[in-house]
Amino acid sequence: MTSTSHNHASRPPQASSETTTTHACDHVPNALTVEEAQANILSTVQELNTLEQINIRDSLGRVLAQPIIAAMDIPPHRNSAMDGYAIRFTDLDTKKTTQLNIAGESFAGHPFQGNMEAGECVRIMTGAVMPIDADTVIMQEHVERQAESIIIQPQHTQGQNVRHPGEDVKKGETILEPGREINAANLGLFASLGMAEINVTRKPRVAFFSTGDELKNVGSILGEGDIYDSNRYTLFGLLKKLNVELLDMGVIPDQALAVENAFKEASKISDVLITSGGVSVGEADFVSDTLKKLGHVNFWKIAMKPGKPVAFGKLDQCLFFGLPGNPVSVMATFALFVKPAIQKLKGLLPNEATNRSITAISDVDIKKAPGRKDHQRGIYYVNEAGEYRVTTIGLQSSHVLSAMSKANCFIVLDKDSGNLPAQTKVEVLPFSELF
Ligand code: AMP
Ligand code: MG
Repeated sequence: MTSTSHNHASRPPQASSETTTTHACDHVPNALTVEEAQANILSTVQELNTLEQINIRDSLGRVLAQPIIAAMDIPPHRNSAMDGYAIRFTDLDTKKTTQLNIAGESFAGHPFQGNMEAGECVRIMTGAVMPIDADTVIMQEHVERQAESIIIQPQHTQGQNVRHPGEDVKKGETILEPGREINAANLGLFASLGMAEINVTRKPRVAFFSTGDELKNVGSILGEGDIYDSNRYTLFGLLKKLNVELLDMGVIPDQALAVENAFKEASKISDVLITSGGVSVGEADFVSDTLKKLGHVNFWKIAMKPGKPVAFGKLDQCLFFGLPGNPVSVMATFALFVKPAIQKLKGLLPNEATNRSITAISDVDIKKAPGRKDHQRGIYYVNEAGEYRVTTIGLQSSHVLSAMSKANCFIVLDKDSGNLPAQTKVEVLPFSELF
């Protein structure tokens, strides 16, 4: 598909964005490094400043927008840590056994109501309120039970097996700061503080579409030269995990006007627009030019592999990411650039953001040309000696989604690195951190 309204003749001729051939040098003129691109994105993104008050169950995976200050002590009362007998420690003989009469019982939710005199004890269950006069709990396994009394051996410690009010959380204490991603333990904590609702940051609205005249939807029949649109499904999965509001705009044809209209529509209703395809310098690539025409281009080339052409900028207030068309490039560039931006939009604290790498030893020789930071598909594992090891998997071309599906990590190779022999230590980004 070509368009007379767009003339790319002034641009340098270029091979397709990714090829299977490994060149001696892979230098890309005027490209940002991955780190420069990430810094550019993070300095552009501003946290969304709208809050939502929601039920605590709905807050799982959302970002906390308020400090959690304890309105009460946890536990709220002095209680037993064991099933056993509450006693006064001073009643115990330190040299020989002691016999104590059972004055009553304290069960969880049913405190002992009477008085516990000297020489008496109270049968007590885990979590039950301690009788006011008791200071120590003897585990039931450590007593000999008689009909209405117990016999205790010496050698116990005053205060043992007793939980004190505020031991877990003190009233007035700040337990969580805003900017944390809410997990299951946090839900329980909110509930234990009696909080039914919580303030979280708003979900970013993220629109996305594919570009390409060759793309057909699943369920339709392919014509000659057609392929099924897979990127929209990958992006759907990636975005779903980031807990954002999704707006799937389908496939947009390779026509300047169609791309422009889609940009205008998306930027009116979303915080982020993500496209795939049409971002390099082919005759039918309109994404970068449209961004330039309607908005602001921060950059459009990164010295990385896969994913050299990535356009980033703004359409009014809407952040724009033009990802490459090749499916593996989509995933790599999403993880490295889009995900950190969305995390910042959501107000996630930088130390909460993932993408942490590990070091592993390569089992195999790795092919790499200097010039671009590479993200090869690999499988990492722990060997019997407890070392992280890694091996490459499948074809390392950016259209090979099957290798991406089988892999469990990217092997990250420095921009200037060349080929690496087996047994070299390499950086590994586990997919569990990324997607
Ligand atoms: P482009 O960047 O538009 O030149 O696309 C690069 C390669 O990715 C081409 O082989 C496209 O057919 C392919 N491609 C682009 N978009 C998609 C998509 N949504 N699903 C699958 N493949 C795609
Ligand atoms: Mg295309």
